[in-house]
Amino acid sequence: MAALRAEFTARFGGEPDGVWSAPGRLNLLGEYVDFNGGSCMPTPLPYRTLVAGRLRRDGVLHAESLQMAEHAEARIAEIAPGNVSGWFAYVGGVAWAMNQQGGADIALPAEFGADLLVDSTVPVGGGLSSSAALLSSTALALLELSCPLRAAAALVPLPVGGCGPDNDALRARLAAVSMDAENRVAGARTGGLDHTAALRSLPGEALVIDFRDLSIEAVRIDATGAGLKFLVIDTRAPHDLADGQYSSRRQACEDVTRAAGVENLRALLPAEIAFPELDAAAARTARHLVVEETLDRCVAEPSIRDSVGERTLRTWIRHVFTDMVLVERARALFVDRMPVTEATWAELGELFTESHASMRDDLGASRAELDVAVDTCLAEGALGARLVGGGFGGAVLALVEADRLNPTAQAVADAFAERGFVSPVFLPLAPGRPAD
Ligand code: ADP
Repeated sequence: MAALRAEFTARFGGEPDGVWSAPGRLNLLGEYVDFNGGSCMPTPLPYRTLVAGRLRRDGVLHAESLQMAEHAEARIAEIAPGNVSGWFAYVGGVAWAMNQQGGADIALPAEFGADLLVDSTVPVGGGLSSSAALLSSTALALLELSCPLRAAAALVPLPVGGCGPDNDALRARLAAVSMDAENRVAGARTGGLDHTAALRSLPGEALVIDFRDLSIEAVRIDATGAGLKFLVIDTRAPHDLADGQYSSRRQACEDVTRAAGVENLRALLPAEIAFPELDAAAARTARHLVVEETLDRCVAEPSIRDSVGERTLRTWIRHVFTDMVLVERARALFVDRMPVTEATWAELGELFTESHASMRDDLGASRAELDVAVDTCLAEGALGARLVGGGFGGAVLALVEADRLNPTAQAVADAFAERGFVSPVFLPLAPGRPAD
């Protein structure tokens, strides 16, 4: 943070008014379920995006990033979807979204402007949500920087504590603003998972976010006693969520939701899908059954079948149902079936691997690098492994015994070298620890 302040001073000729930050996130389970009313289970990473900022009073937003060569500048009043591009679409998009839908407590005063300098330790484009960390830290920076101008502009002042972690309601609003900016200005149709995790989670916990009502439940995830670690492998295989792959799947979900006349796909599953009273094997069978039965009911309904075609329905939508039931089970393991034992972690690992198979076989969202990383981790004895994020590239998450961390990473590096893939980057994390 001190280095960023010094760099800000060197570039802008004066101290920043403050530095704001938000973490990248690791989604333990639940992909393509946030925009379908399911639950996800993200945990914040010790890697963060920092935004140093200083107020300007000329309506101009100027932004630079230590990760990007291009500087960008625009009058906030002139920012709109389609007229900002590149990484500035995220930063400018936040200002736009705050004014569009924020209301008097979030809208920015007319003469408000800012100089921003961004720095980040979140791997960019690695499925660990560098984009949401950027959006969220920018939202915090812009809102708090606007404080001195709010009263004069007849805008609602910030509550006591500003946008601090205690102001969860305000942070929930900023998460919605960040998502809007990403969807409508940056052009990536992500759900609310990343922004909620970036703004509303604390180190050492996972959040179960129920996207029917955006309620959150903090779950303590601490595997240190069990001698386990999360190994995150940034495969560095290119991925681009703004391209058609993610959007076409999301569109299929929306088509089915509309055809079924329900609010979201979660509404098509029964209320109880965690089976907390069953052991691991029986719960797996029950899960498969409930997913297949739900699919059969969908296919039997002509309006749903016709909306996307049977094949897509049975594969893409099946993945959504599968990940919904997997998350509910994981939540039940850590909340309803305390105490957490070795068997809890073993089952969590199995849920990871089951989710990967679903992403690969049903959603068609994997690629060779991701499959090689997952398969190698499992061959090295990982309790489970899966691709994280939207797929088609990005990162793999494996749950491994601490003393298997290095051999597992080495085996993955060797497997990548053998196949001529770009060298992966390894991020070992202790579950439940703020940093490692
Ligand atoms: P991720 O999974 O990391 O969120 P995305 O492709 O969704 O990957 O978003 C990455 C994009 O977010 C980058 O291409 C860039 O436009 C923007 N971004 C993320 N971090 C930074 C940063 N530190 N500085 C500038 N832009 C960033």
